[in-house]
Amino acid sequence: MKRILIALFLVLLLVPMAMFANGQKDDGRIVIGVSFSDYATERWPNEAALFTKLGQEKGVQVITQVANQDPKLQNDQIENMVLQGADVIVVIAQDGDAAATAAASAAEAGVPVIAYDRLVKSDKIAVYVSFDNVEVGRAQARGILKVKDSGNFVLLGGSPTDNNAILFRQGQMEVLQPLIDKGQIKVVADQWVENWDPANALKLMENILTATNNKVDAVVASNDGTALGALQALKAQGLAGKVPISGQDATEAGCKSIVEGELTMTVFKDIRKLTPLAFQLALELAQGQDIKANHSEIKDYKLSELTLDDSLSGSVPCYFLPVVEVDKTNVYNEVIKTGFQSYDAVYAGV
Ligand code: BGC
Repeated sequence: MKRILIALFLVLLLVPMAMFANGQKDDGRIVIGVSFSDYATERWPNEAALFTKLGQEKGVQVITQVANQDPKLQNDQIENMVLQGADVIVVIAQDGDAAATAAASAAEAGVPVIAYDRLVKSDKIAVYVSFDNVEVGRAQARGILKVKDSGNFVLLGGSPTDNNAILFRQGQMEVLQPLIDKGQIKVVADQWVENWDPANALKLMENILTATNNKVDAVVASNDGTALGALQALKAQGLAGKVPISGQDATEAGCKSIVEGELTMTVFKDIRKLTPLAFQLALELAQGQDIKANHSEIKDYKLSELTLDDSLSGSVPCYFLPVVEVDKTNVYNEVIKTGFQSYDAVYAGV
């Protein structure tokens, strides 16, 4: 009797485990896990909704999770997705170093990982899809220089654990360094905004204005959220609209601020192209296809070059989408006409 009970117990335990293995849930659908760092920046919940919509259209189960900017929680969630039978996992890393551990163990368990927008610093990832992040930084610096090409500049970088923040800064410096070397531009503050938090950017900017006695001529901020935070500090000193400041993401609030004459520029990255690309690659990986053979655009890049860190070896297949520099002269054509933001929201009350 005891043996029969043990056998029954094992059958009840193992049959569902076998059904969940390789993500083939009992209904046979492919399972894509998507692990987000946070939903604080406007784009991420939009991308989560886009992944879910694509899943519904293609009969694929999409599991989304959000780590609230906690790298440890994100790793636990990734491990959980493996246990839940995900066939492939898309990661928007809070911390590119920390996420490497979870990505490597997922890969070890046979679950390919797609680094999405932000690099996961591991050569165990199946592919990295993003935008041309260095060009984002160049566009930000160029956008500022169109308005102000000399004087006291503030550099407000993104979250230091986000590899993109480093690449944006690289692009910014490519454009600014020659003018710094000439003595035309003086960097009076060089800061990084933890977690890309607008409230942190506001505080940093307040302190910079106090320390410089408001002698700031331009602010190279790295996305719309942090730029709008810094703009609050500028506004309090009567400097909004006078001191040029850059952004990124073509958010609704960012575009509104551009048409109102406060934010100088933003960088439009069309997530409506990035999400379907990642989704397609996820499907191909889940079906065991060779994505490099399927997409001639995918090229191998050295990790050390993608991160500016000589100590990292190995290479990663990558795919980068182009970006668009946007200011008040083309915001209507690039962002509104293409349906990325609505006219009514951006031009309300203007
Ligand atoms: C993304 C930006 C975003 C920022 C904050 C970066 O990694 O590339 O689009 O504004 O993170 O979430």
